[in-house]
Amino acid sequence: MEGRGGDLAKILSDAIGVPLARARSLLESKSTRVMRYRGIRYITLRRDLAGHYEGTAILIDEATGEYRVVEGYPHIKRVLLLSKAVPQHFIDEVIVEEKMDGHNVRVIMFKGMILALTRGGYICPYTTHKLNHKYRRQVESLLDDLGHDAVIAGEVVGMENPYTRYHYPEAPHWDYFVFDIFKDGIPLPVASRRELVDKHGLRNVPVHGRYRKEDWQSILETARSLEDLGREGIILKDPLYRVEPLKYTTSYINVRDIKEGMLYPFDEGHTFIFPRVLRQMFKAIEEEWSEDELKRQAALLGEAILLPAVEGIRRFMAEGKLAEEFTLTFHSLEALEEFLSYSASLGVPLTIISMNRGDGIIKVRVQKPKRTPDYYKRILRTGLSPLD
Ligand code: ATP
Ligand code: MG
Repeated sequence: MEGRGGDLAKILSDAIGVPLARARSLLESKSTRVMRYRGIRYITLRRDLAGHYEGTAILIDEATGEYRVVEGYPHIKRVLLLSKAVPQHFIDEVIVEEKMDGHNVRVIMFKGMILALTRGGYICPYTTHKLNHKYRRQVESLLDDLGHDAVIAGEVVGMENPYTRYHYPEAPHWDYFVFDIFKDGIPLPVASRRELVDKHGLRNVPVHGRYRKEDWQSILETARSLEDLGREGIILKDPLYRVEPLKYTTSYINVRDIKEGMLYPFDEGHTFIFPRVLRQMFKAIEEEWSEDELKRQAALLGEAILLPAVEGIRRFMAEGKLAEEFTLTFHSLEALEEFLSYSASLGVPLTIISMNRGDGIIKVRVQKPKRTPDYYKRILRTGLSPLD
């Protein structure tokens, strides 16, 4: 173990450019985590460190000791007022891409394997399995073309994933939409990336036009049209990435997120509320809501906070439990087992509620535990607030 630990520290030190002693202490701290996937040992950075983003992964080939650093996906700043941010931030033109609501996945090739990394820098066995099943050939062809050191970044959307599930008519089950490709750590221009993705048979996130930066009004209109479709929002990009992208979400999603979070207030709910209220506050200003519209939105917001929260308590009282349930689909039993042990190793033990097989697909209904019911249990027993 000592020897391995020593090797790891040396690799980490070399990989992110910190002194050996610092690498050693980082490996012992909560700032990093060491995991394993097939013949790979990897270190994830759990916060921004030494000029690398949170979610950076250092992958090490266990057979040869060779390593590769996969940079974390950068944080995207949020716009509250398009009228101010767009003309000030951009240089001349802005490409409006759709912000799809799923989970961020970086796809890379290492040791000849196509791997899917989560935002946190973990190789997710489920996502890796689904991606290889659906797009192995396409990803290989793209990386053969561009170079095996490139990083593809995109959103996994659809109902069959363990992270974020929303229905998209164009991707009801599981799909992957590319929104960036990094070569030598630098994103390809939007147009060349879109072309390359099309050429190799992968899917791009939808694009909703190109505007002069002064034309924030048209960008607001675009966001509003997505609102009516119940979609998440937009990402604004300089065509050449000369300045970093910005994000902007719809009212519908700001409120819906609160509604969903508040079913589990002690898990997501409490941290969701203030940032989303803030977004709505400035929409009221920028969109010049009338008194009637303001009242309507205030009612929606209040309902989004209290209704699901009370529903959750009632459900807990009636059923004695409150957990998240979802469906995953596998194409082999090994993949299922691999994913379950990965989840458990991250401290998320999943329970299988049912399992069906047919047409080579294993459909599994799983339950994920939440912390909120523990709080409810204590409150209902003691009658005291856990907050104050
Ligand atoms: P952060 O605020 O650090 O970016 P977050 O998880 O809070 O992280 P989101 O609010 O979901 O982020 O917005 C950023 C994310 O949006 C990206 O990480 C990416 O997963 C997702 N995304 C969806 N569509 C796009 C797109 N077209 N371009 C870039 N990112 C997109
Ligand atoms: Mg997101």
